[in-house]
Amino acid sequence: MIYADNAATTKPCQAAIRAMTDCMEHIWGNPSSLYEAGQAAAAVLADARERIAVCIGAMPEEIYFTSGGSEADNQALRSAAYLGARNGKKHIVSTAFEHHAVLHTLNRLAKEGFEIELLDVGAIGTVTAEQVESAVREDTALVTVMYANNEIGSVLPISEIGSVCRERGVLFHTDAVQAAGHLPIDVKEQNIDMLSLSAHKFHGPKGTGVLYARKGIALTGIIEGGAQERGKRAGTENVPAIAGMAAALEEACLHMAENAAKAAALRDRLIIGLSQVPHAALNGDPLNRLPGNVSFCFEGVEGESMLLLLDDRGICASSGSACTSGSLDPSHVLLAIGRPHEAAHGSLRLSVCEKNTEKEVDEILKAVPEIVSCLRNMSPLWRDKINGKKEFLL
Ligand SMILES: *Cc1c(COP(=O)(O)O)cnc(C)c1O
Repeated sequence: MIYADNAATTKPCQAAIRAMTDCMEHIWGNPSSLYEAGQAAAAVLADARERIAVCIGAMPEEIYFTSGGSEADNQALRSAAYLGARNGKKHIVSTAFEHHAVLHTLNRLAKEGFEIELLDVGAIGTVTAEQVESAVREDTALVTVMYANNEIGSVLPISEIGSVCRERGVLFHTDAVQAAGHLPIDVKEQNIDMLSLSAHKFHGPKGTGVLYARKGIALTGIIEGGAQERGKRAGTENVPAIAGMAAALEEACLHMAENAAKAAALRDRLIIGLSQVPHAALNGDPLNRLPGNVSFCFEGVEGESMLLLLDDRGICASSGSACTSGSLDPSHVLLAIGRPHEAAHGSLRLSVCEKNTEKEVDEILKAVPEIVSCLRNMSPLWRDKINGKKEFLL
């Protein structure tokens, strides 16, 4: 099998697996219990909190464990919105190509009376700090802009946006789920007030993540119950997963530069190779790009058909985002960068990591053009384009 879908999830690393199995075998007490077995589990949590904080330049008391990126996004947005509302601020600035965990929470907040302004991400798929600056108003409660886009790989100017928000005194949240463990993060230096990350996107376990909230920001709990996470997130902590997340993040940060260089070399080989396919276009920022992300639209093919034929050859890839596959609507991200519906339906995302090889990339580079030709040859629409009856889009 060739696994080229690391933006959907990653294979757990040995360090994470070891930390998790060790916890499950030996440290299975409830961290809220006062006897020794409980306190041993509490010590694992404290240690993980400390190590994760170091990785992103935060303090341990600014780290809240959640069930993943989606929960962290939900809690960050609701907390900032309600804090703002108390001071009469009900305007929220975001972008049109955020993850659904952000966009759907914003839709909910709109129904609760908040005014949501989504910035245009242009053809390249990014926003500038100037765009953010001109959108911010006296009554802006929150700016939430993702660090890197999960579908098209654009990396956004988070430090510049952070400075603008700090100058204007507006809370700034970033969904850094695709960035954590892959790109440097320093929440203090980058003026980030709140940040979401998820362990399974950096070779950690699924179902666990972090919401970082700068000291002094009063979070709103979205799960009621016990007093875990300083009363902000009820529920017995997933101790093994949290230990695995800390181990995975530490390892990812330790090898970040070399891993990014390896992934970027494979990414560029894929981009150069796939650019040879006629009527195809790279999606996302060609320069400021996640090290492992390759995203293309191929005119005249269906993404889903491409995926099935790739699967026949043992290649795991994605079309649009994993969350929307199964639905017939084209990806909101591709529509946001101006791809016509028809072209957006022919999208392919390959996301590689340092574990992939040149040999695998060459196999993908052989498979994709063959599959695209094969599907185009079967398409009546493509025949119309070849015969000049319909216009080419790409
Ligand atoms: C995967 C992802 C999420 C969701 O994280 P989960 O831990 O799967 O809930 C949120 N935002 C982005 C950008 C992602 O890639």
